[in-house]
Amino acid sequence: MRTAEHFASKSSKSSNSSPSMLGHLRSSLRHASVRALRIAGELRAARKSVAASGDRVVLTFHRIVPDKEIALCRSPRGMVLRESIFAQVIEYLKFSTSIEAPERVEWPHYRTGRPQVILTFDDGWIDNLDIALPYLTSAGIRACFFMTTGFAGQAEPFWPERLRGIFDSLRSANMLPLLQEEMHELESRSDIPSPAMNGSTKFEEILTWLKQFPTDTISQWLDSLQNHLSPIVPNLPAGTIFDPRERLMDWDELQQLAAAGHTIGSHTRSHALLTQLDPHAVREELLVSREHLSEHLHPSNEAPIWLSYPNGDASHAIAASALRTGYSRAFLNSPGLWRKRTSQMLIPRVNVWDGTVTDRSGDFSPEHLEYSLFWKTARTHTKYK
Ligand SMILES: [Zn+2]
Repeated sequence: MRTAEHFASKSSKSSNSSPSMLGHLRSSLRHASVRALRIAGELRAARKSVAASGDRVVLTFHRIVPDKEIALCRSPRGMVLRESIFAQVIEYLKFSTSIEAPERVEWPHYRTGRPQVILTFDDGWIDNLDIALPYLTSAGIRACFFMTTGFAGQAEPFWPERLRGIFDSLRSANMLPLLQEEMHELESRSDIPSPAMNGSTKFEEILTWLKQFPTDTISQWLDSLQNHLSPIVPNLPAGTIFDPRERLMDWDELQQLAAAGHTIGSHTRSHALLTQLDPHAVREELLVSREHLSEHLHPSNEAPIWLSYPNGDASHAIAASALRTGYSRAFLNSPGLWRKRTSQMLIPRVNVWDGTVTDRSGDFSPEHLEYSLFWKTARTHTKYK
């Protein structure tokens, strides 16, 4: 199973219930499960069992956003963690787990009696440096940052934030039906039905639908959308950046992270979803990104480089290509445990965002975190083509 919103499965079929209703149901179920498991002592047992097994849990973060700036943030909810919650997650991990530095990972390893965890960050957002780094430094934690290397220093690097800007402008002008017309135009070029638009249509539903198209097609469609709508929609963002943190780190900033002892890995060159590319294009994405990292950060070209697949989308053929291109370990976005027998090129990870670590009132809940990290991971098995 994939994590919610941001990583909605590509193969998920539309059903009669709306995804927003399903999302609400899923979150209620989650709260109820966590409560029942806590009372039964199952969460504590799951944590102990992961600690005893020596299996590792790898966490994925994307954006760490200051609480007071959350309204500015256009990134999908499934990749946003408020700074105050992040601080509490770090505090929990520091006292209840054993956090390993990425470059020290070895099998077998010394067991500490606590679950072994590794922290990773995807995409390369500037808030990783500005907001997250001070917490990592003061807790003495080393993490791996997976960089979309072709977009270093770039503002508005990905299409979901751009779409969010357009969506919000249309909604506030009561003009969302215009978006439906444009979606029909894209739909007519494929056989993938678009979600029905009405007052309660959630941004995430459109996002999930669009992720089924190649990245180039989406960018071109957004360009034409912007051209068509700009003359008629007031304040349609024309590449305007509202959130100064909506950019990726540049190479100087990545060097600061590396100098502080952190590992910089690859998140490919352009964040294209590798399962949508032909083998030659996959190799190009991986090879060019590896060259970027070598050129800017690893002049000796000998350092083993880690990789995380955009959107977690991979296959055995892609994993083999990554190995041939010089990557030593590669990570998914599907929850699970990193066991000794796990393929080094298909390592599961747990996506951590506000929705997975907070209770009904939006406060940090160690039980919700334990449910995600230890209980669910031990029960998830992912299959690949
Ligand atoms: Zn990503």
